[in-house]
Amino acid sequence: LDAVEEAVAFLEDHPLFNAGRGSVLNAVGEVEMDASLMDGGRLHAGAVGAVRNLRNPIRLARRVLDDGRHILLVAEGADRFARDIGISGCSAEELVTERQRARWEAMTDSPGTVGAVAVDGAGGMAAATSTGGLLRKRPGRVGDSALIGAGTYADHLLGAASVTGHGEAIMRVVLAKTAVDLLAGDRHPQDAARLAMAVLGERGQGEGGIILVDHQGRVGHAHNAPVMSCAFMDKTSDAPSLLR
Ligand code: ASP
Repeated sequence: LDAVEEAVAFLEDHPLFNAGRGSVLNAVGEVEMDASLMDGGRLHAGAVGAVRNLRNPIRLARRVLDDGRHILLVAEGADRFARDIGISGCSAEELVTERQRARWEAMTDSPGTVGAVAVDGAGGMAAATSTGGLLRKRPGRVGDSALIGAGTYADHLLGAASVTGHGEAIMRVVLAKTAVDLLAGDRHPQDAARLAMAVLGERGQGEGGIILVDHQGRVGHAHNAPVMSCAFMDKTSDAPSLLR
């Protein structure tokens, strides 16, 4: 759980990705972000939707999980929880990059949602996802990345999944949970990832991508969107290596 939180927080801080600083702008030119994470051992989860003025939404999602009372907090309520537990906010401008402002003006789509999945030596599993969502989305729109089962899912009996792509299509087929269920019967995560993309394309009528790890530490990734970058590390790695 710590590993997926740290990986996603690192990517949120990187301005190239559509999460944290560098998020896409909504219809009124503002950043509103979604994030979630799940502990596959206990089936505990935390998520935030339509949050603003926060550098690392995934860290707030983690605190929602640790608090344990609720799973999903949105908008002002989530901001208030952040203040109550001492997570300091940032200015709205701090999250907006020149690149995203230009893309907003040109109406150029900007993929780059971030996610991580992990399995540890004791079979613990976790998944995390964070995004600024879709370019020019309506204010208040919450996407799959805030929804356990749609954008993020982990169950230590099977595996863990994090999803990117067209959130409305992903929600219709509850993609992360669907992919984890496809690991049943010892199916290889690579096959499960491909099957999940077929479900997204054929039933959900949408584009996206998925990263998947199973309880044995085998990995899978697939996308039917034009691009998705992913990388892998294990205990023998000094640095992540790109997966193709
Ligand atoms: N799934 C995200 C959303 O719909 C966007 C993305 O992954 O690019 O909010």
